Amino acid sequence: MAGGRKKGEVPVIGLECLSCGHAEYQMSSLGLGELLKGRCPRCGGDLAVTGKELPKEWGEVLSVLEREFSVVDFVLGREGGEFEVEAGPGSSFPRLLRGLRSLGKVGALRRRGGALYLRVLSLPPRREGRPYLPLLLLGLTLLSTLGFSYLFLFGEAVEALLFSVSLMAILASHELGHGLAARRNGVEASPPYFIPAPTYLGTLGAVVRVRSPIPTRDALVEMGASGPLLGFAVALLVSSVGLALGGAGGARLFTTPILLLLRSALGGGLDNPLVLSGSVMMVITFLNLLPAGQLDGGHLARGLLSAEGHSTLTRGMGLGLLFSGLLLPGYPFWIWGLLILLFFGRPHAGVLDDLSPLSSSHRLLAFSTFLLLPLTFPLPGVPA
Ligand SMILES: [Zn+2]
Ligand SMILES: [Zn+2]
Repeated sequence: MAGGRKKGEVPVIGLECLSCGHAEYQMSSLGLGELLKGRCPRCGGDLAVTGKELPKEWGEVLSVLEREFSVVDFVLGREGGEFEVEAGPGSSFPRLLRGLRSLGKVGALRRRGGALYLRVLSLPPRREGRPYLPLLLLGLTLLSTLGFSYLFLFGEAVEALLFSVSLMAILASHELGHGLAARRNGVEASPPYFIPAPTYLGTLGAVVRVRSPIPTRDALVEMGASGPLLGFAVALLVSSVGLALGGAGGARLFTTPILLLLRSALGGGLDNPLVLSGSVMMVITFLNLLPAGQLDGGHLARGLLSAEGHSTLTRGMGLGLLFSGLLLPGYPFWIWGLLILLFFGRPHAGVLDDLSPLSSSHRLLAFSTFLLLPLTFPLPGVPA
């Protein structure tokens, strides 16, 4: 049935279950009224042929699909369906996704027993979200970083303000990186939600929620790399300004290898609120880039590895961090290990096209982003 069939000449039957009312469409040339005994996937009842045409919705999907793949077989229901397809030299999955998106659908490509299957589902209706919530959180986080850093770190208004504003700017640039990569790849993402917290920094960072599936491994790697890279670049810039300004005494919690390199190159003092916000963000980058679960580094790892490889690595990272105190006494990494094992270690949703490998340029992008790990490793504070 595969090769010789002309487009638009698909033999279709509409089936309805005589017992439970389940309805589906298949590729078949059975006649009206014929019965498929015991073939209802829902109740095991008899299916009767009640039509010979696809509904408009699936007809449109089929014609978009046939521009990229040849369709071997299909079973389509009310909510979703599965096509067995064959790829040709001109097949483009990203192009297919764009076509499907214009119909309010999304598709995922999988290989099963040597055959290629495309699962097509309706996209959830666009959520308009609550525009005031990100703004409210932004305002609260600005206040909490200002307030808590004043109380616990600086005891001085101008320094607390410099710290608060620069930290928020670096956090925002990290999230902006994710947002730009999402837009570039047609992925729907929320605005950044800043998280105010009663810690001495006043925040737990910010998150962007990804609301639609990620199409390809290349897109996944771009999503994972862009936040840490842009956030790191801005942290570097802010720290350099802070080093140049210097400062006498005050708060210094920790530093990073790149910060010490920067100081030996530029000179200047580490006791500046801008240096502190830069180093805080570097450490956040480090924790976020560990290749595990749903962390940014986990996205990169899933781009490079299979689903199984990724979950093995996640468990390994979690356990490794949990027992890291044996090698690195004094580091509270075990908390992060525990969080990864309990919360961030869920199986990765993966990408819609799990078959195409990562391109070599994106492989390079993933590995270069991991180079930030040794640069941003948290070191104890050193004398200024
Ligand atoms: Zn049934
Ligand atoms: Zn991120």
